[in-house]
Amino acid sequence: MTVAIYPGSFDPITNGHIDILKSGAEIFDKVIIAVSYNANKEGFLPVSTRAELIQECVKDLPNVEVDCFEGLTVEYAKKRGATVLLRGLRTSFDFEYEMQLSQTNHALYNNIKTVFLITKPEYNFISSSCVREILLNKGDITNFVPEAVAKYLTAKCGI
Ligand code: ADP
Repeated sequence: MTVAIYPGSFDPITNGHIDILKSGAEIFDKVIIAVSYNANKEGFLPVSTRAELIQECVKDLPNVEVDCFEGLTVEYAKKRGATVLLRGLRTSFDFEYEMQLSQTNHALYNNIKTVFLITKPEYNFISSSCVREILLNKGDITNFVPEAVAKYLTAKCGI
């Protein structure tokens, strides 16, 4: 049984993240989507809210689990018996960063392999940071995030 961890900030989760997650769930026996956080660094949404929103989006995916972790991704992967890290690629900028991250993680734990999936063109430009920026300016985020997430965020921001 191959367990993959899909780590990220997911602040908030977007349609691009969901696309990678669904593809990963078709490839691996189990995918744990894990919200990484740093207790000393506040995000846009509290970690528990990010996880709750993800849970709502993945409720129809039986081999997907939602979790949160602090610290090194490889230590979390060891603890969960995972041998794969799942990551998404949009641009060559993502590639440069992700290659370094993947090589670092492998140097820390040689049982872990990073598998990259390339995003669909329609999600290529979507990022959590652009969703946050649109929200702060009271714009329309409905095409960028799952319905339940849009509903929560627009209510939170009084749009
Ligand atoms: P991190 O802080 O770890 O980069 P993110 O939540 O920004 O966390 O991203 C998690 C993963 O999802 C990363 O591999 C990132 O490249 C990927 N990702 C982000 N947005 C998209 C998108 N629109 N399409 C595909 N992959 C994406």
